[in-house]
Amino acid sequence: MDFGWSEQQDALRGKVVEFLRDHLPDGWQDIAALSPGSQEVTDFSREFCPKLAEAGLLASHWPPEFGGRDAPAWDHFIIGEVMWEAGEPRGPQYYNVNWIGPTILHYGNEEQKAQHLCRMMQGDVIWCQGFSEPSGGSDLAAMRTRAERDGDRYRINGQKIWTSYARLAEFCFLLARTGAGKRDISVFLIPMDRPGITVRPIESVVGDGDLHEVFFDDVEALESERLGPEGKGWDVVRYSLNFERVGIPRYALALRTLHAAVADLEASGSFTETARLAAALAMSSCEAARMLVYEAVDQRSKSAPGTGIASMARYAVVLAERQVADFVLDWTPHLFVSETNPMVATHHKRAIAAGLAAGAAEIQLNLVARDMLGLGT
Ligand SMILES: Cc1cc2nc3c(=O)[nH]c(=O)nc-3n(C[C@H](O)[C@H](O)[C@H](O)COP(=O)(O)OP(=O)(O)OC[C@H]3O[C@@H](n4cnc5c(N)ncnc54)[C@H](O)[C@@H]3O)c2cc1C
Repeated sequence: MDFGWSEQQDALRGKVVEFLRDHLPDGWQDIAALSPGSQEVTDFSREFCPKLAEAGLLASHWPPEFGGRDAPAWDHFIIGEVMWEAGEPRGPQYYNVNWIGPTILHYGNEEQKAQHLCRMMQGDVIWCQGFSEPSGGSDLAAMRTRAERDGDRYRINGQKIWTSYARLAEFCFLLARTGAGKRDISVFLIPMDRPGITVRPIESVVGDGDLHEVFFDDVEALESERLGPEGKGWDVVRYSLNFERVGIPRYALALRTLHAAVADLEASGSFTETARLAAALAMSSCEAARMLVYEAVDQRSKSAPGTGIASMARYAVVLAERQVADFVLDWTPHLFVSETNPMVATHHKRAIAAGLAAGAAEIQLNLVARDMLGLGT
């Protein structure tokens, strides 16, 4: 692959870097080191995202009628790289622009698009994603939450788990069973203040406010809140997961963390040959992951059908993040308590979670075997 950025793409990257310089407050790193679902980061995102929208950088890849300017998929990705490297000032709103919005754009009717995309473009709405259940997150087909039809509405009963951002979310992108068949599922766009929804936080290594259990007790959903045809939720989910798996350029923060560790070793005169080799291996993993992710984005930008590349890229990203986390742990463990670089410890926690969030790493390998190697069904 002969890969290089165009002048226009370089200029865009420069514009986003400058935007961050102008809009991130002193002490931003201490805020960013909390989780994206914390109250502090969420509150900040509500101030930051409207300004990003005003600068044409929140969802430039959307059509003009929903506040975008039909920019190429690459533009949004470049913006995402700079954001993630800086500690993701969009907070939980990265969900909206990376994959929930694009999925609504593809499967939504005109009312749904007008309601949700315009709201996302205001930069103050938080969404959560209700897929995983206690019976298992990998096997979505074993899901138990049911949406029973009742005339022109549904009654939803069940439980979700590991739901990021649920406590502060206004809407849930919810998956529920709508028929007897194994794959008979549908997606609903449900307001989280609907009677019958209970949210319970789960304490976790990824930080305060990130993970939750969500209970649905006879929750009413309108037919107009279903995204796409009834029973076709599997297609919707596959579409959205292809975006989500490579939505976060995780290697960007990993590379920044690696550079911080190397700079620390150099400053103390302890960047030995062995450390140099380990750093080079971690860096090459990040670069390999970056190239695979670019291939997935390239496919998307050409609207090519998914070939499993998103799963392969996701797996490579997980490996690269872990390798950087291990490097820091082996060579510069004192950086975990660094006051000048709080994102180092944050990166480590995110690297631990990366192998599970958005689908377990092993499942990505299964998908690569099926979709790229033609092994099994
Ligand atoms: C930080 C974080 C945020 C998350 N946010 C959300 C969210 O917002 N919404 C949401 O719905 N979910 C969320 N999740 C849940 C996540 O999607 C699930 O953890 C993931 O899908 C795995 O499901 P599980 O935890 O039930 O593990 P399981 O599916 O039970 O898997 C357990 C282990 O078994 C392995 N395994 C399972 N089946 C197979 C197989 N067929 N072949 C090989 N190995 C297998 C898995 O790889 C894994 O290592 C989040 C998770 C994390 C860590």
